Amino acid sequence: MTLPMVVSDPSLPAHVTIWEVGPRDGLQNESAVIDTATKIELIDRLADAGLGIVEATSFVRPDRVPQLADAREVMAGIARRDGVRYPALVPNMRGLESALDAEVTDIAIFASATETFAERNLGRGYDAQWEMFAPVVARARAEGLRVRGYLSMCFGDPWEGAVPAEQVVAAVTRMRDLGCDAISLGDTIGVATAGQVADLVRRLVAADVPVREIGVHFHDTYGQALANTLAALREGVTTVDASAGGLGGCPYAKAATGNLATEDLVYMLDGLGISHGVDLDALVSTSRWLETRLGRPSPSRVVRARTPSEDV
Ligand code: MG
Repeated sequence: MTLPMVVSDPSLPAHVTIWEVGPRDGLQNESAVIDTATKIELIDRLADAGLGIVEATSFVRPDRVPQLADAREVMAGIARRDGVRYPALVPNMRGLESALDAEVTDIAIFASATETFAERNLGRGYDAQWEMFAPVVARARAEGLRVRGYLSMCFGDPWEGAVPAEQVVAAVTRMRDLGCDAISLGDTIGVATAGQVADLVRRLVAADVPVREIGVHFHDTYGQALANTLAALREGVTTVDASAGGLGGCPYAKAATGNLATEDLVYMLDGLGISHGVDLDALVSTSRWLETRLGRPSPSRVVRARTPSEDV
C-alpha cells in the first residue's frame, strides 16, 4: 500500500507553500554547535528535496546565538538552486548590512505581539520594537529585498497569558505598514487550538490583510500543530512554516518545544491532494542523516514511522 491514500477536499487550497525553517529556527535551538559544512549540506539537501523556501540562517550577534555565528559562510557555501529562496533573519541594521554583504535577497524580522516578550527577546518594549525595525525594513525594501515579519506570541504568552486577537491584528497591521510583504503568525509556546486559529485569520482578513500574505508557524507542544494548520488552510492560508525533522522550538520561551515537522505536514498535504513540490522520501532521508549528526532521533512522527524498527 502506498501511503498516504489521497482523498482531496475541494474546500482547501490546491497548493501550499512550505516555508522551511529548520536550518535557522531549528538549528539555533540545538545545544550542540553544528559545523558549517553540515549546515550547508542540510540546506542543499532540503532544496534538492523540493522545498522552494529554505530559511538559511540568522545575522544575529554571535555571542547571543553562537549556533548561527557562521551566517556569512553558510550563505557563501550553499548551492543557491534556481527558483529557491534562502531567507535570513536580521535583528537590526548591522544584521541587515551583513546580510546585504552576503547577497541575501530575502530577509525576515522578528517582532512580538506582547510587551513582555518584546522586552525579554528584543530588550525593548512593544512600541520601541517598531522604531527599531522601521529603518531596517525601509532600507531592505530600498535594496529590493523581500521582507517577512515574524510575529511571536500570537496565541498566548507565558507571562501575560491570553493574547487578545485585536492586539495581534494591530501588530500585523504595524508590520505591514512598515513594509513587510509577508507575515508569519507564531504560536511561540504551542498553545493554540483550531478555533482560535480560524478566528484570528478571519479577523485579519476582515482587517484587509490579504490572506496570501499570511503564514502560520505552529509548535507541537500540545500536539495541535497539524490541527491548527488544517484550520488555517480552511480559512484560505497557503503558507505554512515547518522544520525538517521537527527541529527546534524557541530558546527564550520556556516549554516551547517542537516546531511542526515538515515531514508530518507533507504527509497531511499529500493525503489531501494538495501540491507542495516536496519529495517526502528525500526529506525523510535528510532528517535521518541529520539524526546521525545531532546524535538524537527526530521527533517527527512521519520520520519515526518511516524508520525501520531495527534502526531505532
Ligand atoms: Mg519555531
